[in-house]
Amino acid sequence: MTERYPELADAVYRRGGVPIRLGGWALGSSHVSGITLWRTIFLHRDARLDERLLLHELRHVHQFREAKTFPLRYLWQSLRRGYSKNPYEVDARRFAAIRSRMNESGVFSGEDRGEEEGG
Ligand SMILES: [Zn+2]
Repeated sequence: MTERYPELADAVYRRGGVPIRLGGWALGSSHVSGITLWRTIFLHRDARLDERLLLHELRHVHQFREAKTFPLRYLWQSLRRGYSKNPYEVDARRFAAIRSRMNESGVFSGEDRGEEEGG
């Protein structure tokens, strides 16, 4: 997967764990596939390693990096607008969609980038 999306190597990955269970509880769902805390992406034990999921969670890594207050802002937006209308979730969904579409069209894929650097 990091061959197609080199930037995924920026994050640390864990399977299962307490954050996944807490996240499921907080969102009122037993099906939380991924939770990101700073640089660490916690994936549910049964979650498929889907590129959309990983890119979505990677966007949350960026959001954590962009502002120290991100966790508070995220919680506030979730309380105000709900999970799916939270602007940080909207942003992460959009990022994952655009980024995976870029690879499908051959733009910005690992191979293409290598060729550009070599040439
Ligand atoms: Zn998300």
